[in-house]
Amino acid sequence: MCQNKAAGDALLPGRRAVSKLLAAGAGLAALAACTPDGGTAPPSSSSAPTGSASPAPSASGTGSLSPSEPPSAVPPSAPATTAPPAPAPSPTSPAAALPKQFSLTDPTSPWVVVNKRRPLSPAGYVPADLVQPNIRLAVSGEAAQLNSTTAAAAEQLFAAAAGDGVVMTLASGYRSYDTQVSTYNSYVSSRGQAEADTASARPGFSEHQTGWAFDIGDGGGACAFQPCFADQPAAVWAKANAHRFGFVVRYPWMQQEITGYYYESWHLRYVGVEAAMDMSTRGIETLEQYFGLEAAPGYL
Ligand SMILES: [Zn+2]
Repeated sequence: MCQNKAAGDALLPGRRAVSKLLAAGAGLAALAACTPDGGTAPPSSSSAPTGSASPAPSASGTGSLSPSEPPSAVPPSAPATTAPPAPAPSPTSPAAALPKQFSLTDPTSPWVVVNKRRPLSPAGYVPADLVQPNIRLAVSGEAAQLNSTTAAAAEQLFAAAAGDGVVMTLASGYRSYDTQVSTYNSYVSSRGQAEADTASARPGFSEHQTGWAFDIGDGGGACAFQPCFADQPAAVWAKANAHRFGFVVRYPWMQQEITGYYYESWHLRYVGVEAAMDMSTRGIETLEQYFGLEAAPGYL
C-alpha cells in the first residue's frame, strides 16, 4: 500500500512469491527466507491485550481532543480541530495508561487507526495542514507532503539519522483519495481485485491519506519497497530509533494477521513520542493491539 506510483508490494517478485508460498503452505520458512530480518522476528506479542471490541467512547473524562501533542523532544503541535469528541481507547487498552488520550477515529488525531476494517471518516479526508518537510526528498508533489506535525517530527528523525551517518529519503508521503483511486484501480484492472487488495489499500483505507504516515528510502537507493529494504541502513536505523521521535514501524514482521499487511520496513507512522515510546517499552508492535482494537487481516 505504500508506493506512490502504480506499483506495490504485490508487483514485487519477492512479495508475490511469498504470497504464493504462503498460500501453498510454505509458511514461515518462506518468509524468513525472503526477508533478511527473518532471523530476528519480533518477540511474541501474545501477552499483549487483544480482542477487546471497538473503542468505546472515552470514559476517562478526556472528552475533548487535546490540541497538542504529548510533551516530548519533538515539539510540534497537532493541528487544532473543532470536531466533536470521538472515541478514544477503552479503559482496558494499554494506551489508556498514558496521561493524554486522543481519538482513534478522527483523522486529525495522531492516534487515528486506519486499517482494512477502519476506513477514514470522512473517506475523502484531506489534512488541512499539509506541508513539505525539509528533508531529502525522493518524490515531488503531494507525495512530498505530510501533515505539519509529522513533517516536523520527520525532520528531527532524518536529522538524527544523518547524525549517525544514515541517509534517509522520503519515498512516499501524503496520498490523496483520488490518487489512491487511480492506484487501486490500476491494480484491479491489471490483476483483479483479490490481488489488488494484497498490494494497494482501497481508496479511503490508506494511512497515507491521513498525512501521519510516510515511506522512507535509503540514501543509497537500494531495495526500495522490497523485503531486502529491511537490511538497508535506513531501515535498520529506523527500526531501532523511530520510536524516540514518535514513529512506529506500522506493519511489523509477521503481524499481517493483525495489521492486514506484510512487513513493510519502510512505512513509518507518527503516533507521538509518548505512545511510540510506550509501545516500545511494552513490546507491543501494532496499533491494533496497543489500542485494544480488533485485528484487521482483510476487508469485510
Ligand atoms: Zn507506506
